[in-house]
Amino acid sequence: MNVRKIERIEDLRAELALRRRSVESVGFVPTMGALHAGHASLIGRSAGENDLTVVSLFLNPLQFGANEDLDKYPSSEAEDLLVCAASGADIAFCPPPSELYPGGFSTYVNMDGMTAALCGKSRPDHFRGVMTVVGKLFNIVRPDRAYFGEKDAQQLAVVRKMARDLNFGTEIIGCPTVREADGLAMSSRNVYLSPDERAAATCLYRALATAGKRIDRGERDAQAITDLVSRTIGAEPLAELEYAELLDAETLESVGAETESMLLAVAARIGGTRLIDNMMFDRAKPGKNGQRS
Ligand code: AMP
Repeated sequence: MNVRKIERIEDLRAELALRRRSVESVGFVPTMGALHAGHASLIGRSAGENDLTVVSLFLNPLQFGANEDLDKYPSSEAEDLLVCAASGADIAFCPPPSELYPGGFSTYVNMDGMTAALCGKSRPDHFRGVMTVVGKLFNIVRPDRAYFGEKDAQQLAVVRKMARDLNFGTEIIGCPTVREADGLAMSSRNVYLSPDERAAATCLYRALATAGKRIDRGERDAQAITDLVSRTIGAEPLAELEYAELLDAETLESVGAETESMLLAVAARIGGTRLIDNMMFDRAKPGKNGQRS
């Protein structure tokens, strides 16, 4: 299969206008490149559900803090284009930063509330950067459906709310987390891990899975559940826990009577690398957590 690489907004708009004459639905998968099997699953899902799939490969500087890993973030465009093609993408949008943020750019998308929770505590401007780029990309691509990983559960909740609040008219679809054989959630950042750190990094999944069993047995006390996660991660010498929280998956507020899906989310540093992971649980049905990913 062939994927068409496009770098300019104008060219993408022209191509989409042309293609829209013969396709009914456009699916969109925004990424920062350095693609792995998690990204491929999103692209494959979009290709299966839409007539045309656009993938963006754009390392968005706006969502990185001053002391974060923007400068060392892995990049592999040639391989990424192969993954796009093999997964069924039709168009890869690869704009240079100046295309999305020309000189004088000064308009941003902000959200009150849920962007301050979880990762927002240590990454205060992160979601502003995410929402701004996703909003711009939605305006450029105008997709019918957009695909996001549950791996970044807070991002998924924020983008869902943004699309609703700002009437983007794009359906936001969450896709299950793709994991390595030992449970580690696939991430472009896993390449930073030394062999020892890579072994230690499985503690995130182990902690979630252990706590998940407790939830399946009916435990609903958030403190007891997050304490268990903290203890499992605390037992790993190379890991430093940033947060472990059990929240309503949609609102990112405390679990309450209205909560349908519960999000057990964790962030930890393994050596110098910050990793996140989560699992989702149906609040009402202990032992029936088919949604867990
Ligand atoms: P990124 O390139 O890290 O910005 O990720 C692009 C999209 O891929 C986001 O919607 C992520 O949530 C999703 N994604 C990243 N890792 C995984 C994974 N292991 N499984 C499923 N989706 C993922």
